[in-house]
Amino acid sequence: MKDDRDATRSGRKRFATRAVHSGQRPDPATGAVSVPIYATSTYRQAGFGGEPRYEYSRVQNPTRDALEASLADLENGAYACAFGSGMAALHTLFQACPPGSHVLLGLNVYGGTYRLAEHVFRPWGLDIEYVYPVTPERIAEAARPGKTRLVLVETPSNPLLEIVPLRETARVVHDAGAVLAVDNTFAGPYLQTPLDHGADIVVHSMTKYLNGHSDSLGGVLICNDPAWHESFRFLQKSSGAVLSPFEAWLILRGVKTLPLRMERHCRNARDVAAFLVRHPRVLKVYHPDLPGHPGHAVHQAQARGGGGIVSFEVDARVDLSRFVQALEICIYGESLGGVETLICHPATMTHAGMPEDIRRRLGITDRLLRISVGIEDPADIIADLEQALAGASS
Ligand code: PLP
Repeated sequence: MKDDRDATRSGRKRFATRAVHSGQRPDPATGAVSVPIYATSTYRQAGFGGEPRYEYSRVQNPTRDALEASLADLENGAYACAFGSGMAALHTLFQACPPGSHVLLGLNVYGGTYRLAEHVFRPWGLDIEYVYPVTPERIAEAARPGKTRLVLVETPSNPLLEIVPLRETARVVHDAGAVLAVDNTFAGPYLQTPLDHGADIVVHSMTKYLNGHSDSLGGVLICNDPAWHESFRFLQKSSGAVLSPFEAWLILRGVKTLPLRMERHCRNARDVAAFLVRHPRVLKVYHPDLPGHPGHAVHQAQARGGGGIVSFEVDARVDLSRFVQALEICIYGESLGGVETLICHPATMTHAGMPEDIRRRLGITDRLLRISVGIEDPADIIADLEQALAGASS
């Protein structure tokens, strides 16, 4: 069945306008301005043997359609396919590669992505190889022309915010006959649109900045190639890891304020990074806006802001357990991208699924903390960090 619902239809308004309106029109039945939560598993069919627009919510749902159209438009892509989590989206991306395919993966990916590749898709039959550092040169060396199907990278990466030059990377990936997928979770489409720099597929954990309020899980795959999209749709329908209408609605609501939130996240993160750089107990600070950051210039050239994540390493005089207990505003917990400041310990949380020797090679030490800087008043975030560091220091 020819299906036009995925096509981008919003025209070329500016980003903040598209964040509010893309994929969404007042409900034709009632005029409701907010896209309704179509909480239905199935749909009445007009008659026998037709090709109904909606037949079953694992296959199509109007609330999910609206979110998919919105995200395709915001990433400057043609198609989007939404899933129940970022991991479900990544699972679909790997599964779209036939068993036996050679797949290159940046070693510095989210720990869950590493676990999925290593413990689900290697046994399933993908020939997975890691690249580090994640440079066009290393990718060109590792790629096997005609054999490599997919290259997946993160930029900025989790948690050390390493940067991959997208345009040069896309060039070497395409020379090898493969496609480049970029996990854009950390930047989000307001700051960075990888398809504009030659990437073929964008993946997001929508759980993070797109939702922005730490109240839902979701994932999405966005692309321009109808063949890849068809494959994602087929797997979405066949495997069933779809996004529920309620979660789609929550994320759609979050997306409307993405530009406002990202501006504030970026500004607050710069302030927090500047505070940490000066702190006597802090050994290293990682943030793409810092001039000493190795990816600073490349990130500035391909993105519109440093983002809201700051990672830092504290010296041995800081008792980490006392530090996290002493926090009053910042919340010690997994995840990122919400309005509230979250702090995590990557070695035991986000990257616990990665072997210690790899973590060590990447620089994810036991003294490393990652802050997802929220949109609170930056003076309060900094005061909280300051008092917790003071209270935890010997
Ligand atoms: N990609 C990145 C960069 C992440 O940080 C995460 C989760 O932290 C994921 C993917 C997985 O997303 P989810 O938790 O929505 O499954």
